[in-house]
Amino acid sequence: MAIEQTISIIKPDAVAKNVIGQIYSRFENAGLKIVAAKMVHLSQERAEGFYAVHKERPFFGDLVAFMTSGPVMVQVLEGENAVTKNRELMGATNPKNADAGTIRADFADSIDENAVHGSDSAENAAIEIAYFFGTDGLCPRTR
Ligand code: ADP
Ligand code: MG
Repeated sequence: MAIEQTISIIKPDAVAKNVIGQIYSRFENAGLKIVAAKMVHLSQERAEGFYAVHKERPFFGDLVAFMTSGPVMVQVLEGENAVTKNRELMGATNPKNADAGTIRADFADSIDENAVHGSDSAENAAIEIAYFFGTDGLCPRTR
């Protein structure tokens, strides 16, 4: 199976709930390794750039306002099938539809404030990793 990297973002609602550690435990228990991490408070321009694919959607303004409302925790997760594994741990976009035991089912309040972001493909993961961490390459986790 392929070792992949993916971007995870713990959104302002979950940072405010002080559950970064609980969410990190879920990654670690699933065999995903954190190979980069930083807390950032996104500017409007950076949030708009990150979510540019959604700029024509009706919720875009609210999404950018939410993502700039407080600090977010951004991490690169590495492991077998990391993109899919992270999306499974996250649960559905709308926490009302998220399976029991997923991050969104347990920590999110609404589709607007849904606790976490995760890259949706390996291709987008590479773009998102570069957006936050540049293209120099990340510290390998060989053990
Ligand atoms: P995901 O985060 O599960 O990949 P999308 O990429 O479709 O979901 O959407 C990006 C983010 O935009 C979602 O996490 C959510 O915060 C917000 N969003 C998506 N759809 C809606 C919606 N119908 N109403 C409000 N916010 C939405
Ligand atoms: Mg998405």
